[in-house]
Amino acid sequence: MDTGRDPAGEGAEIDIPISALEHFSYCPRQCALIHVEQTFQENVFTVRGQIAHRRVDHAADTVARGIAHVRSLELWSERYGLRGKADLVEFRPEGPYPVEYKSGPAVGGHADIQLCAQALCLEEMFGQPVAAGAAFSHADRRRHPVRFTSELRAATESVIEAVRGQIARQELPPAADDARCPTCGVGQHPLPGAGED
Ligand code: SF4
Repeated sequence: MDTGRDPAGEGAEIDIPISALEHFSYCPRQCALIHVEQTFQENVFTVRGQIAHRRVDHAADTVARGIAHVRSLELWSERYGLRGKADLVEFRPEGPYPVEYKSGPAVGGHADIQLCAQALCLEEMFGQPVAAGAAFSHADRRRHPVRFTSELRAATESVIEAVRGQIARQELPPAADDARCPTCGVGQHPLPGAGED
């Protein structure tokens, strides 16, 4: 079954930024503030994340043990309507291996969706299966491997469609005002009872 974008479906013409998938997975309102309303408020969490990425962006491409390491690789998928950039892709004999750099300790879940979307792009771009990748956490300075299982692929496809619908309809969900908000980095932490970002 072809699970790519429906050419006749809602928002079929929209290319989704890969970063929006992680934002939506974390909080649909956060995704809307950035990608629908284009509101972006820097705070200590977002600045930390940008520094983590800048370190990768400024590193040169290398070859280690015969494996090319390509940084800041532009990604795209016509099938899924995705655009973005990979922090690092290692071109291993078994296929491309994406690595995403994260400033905080929170890896898994939302970051896995973003990595899986990178894998979907790499498979289309290079015609090779992409079975696994990793999220590198600057908090513990370790790589956390991620396998692109059929369940993770299905979850990623479902987030892609949800983001496409949100952008097509220009939807802004209400503020959650929950445990995600203090470290959100986009909406201000709502004051108790305020109900707004
Ligand atoms: S502050 Fe809370 S509700 Fe607002 S975007 Fe962030 S996580 Fe979502």
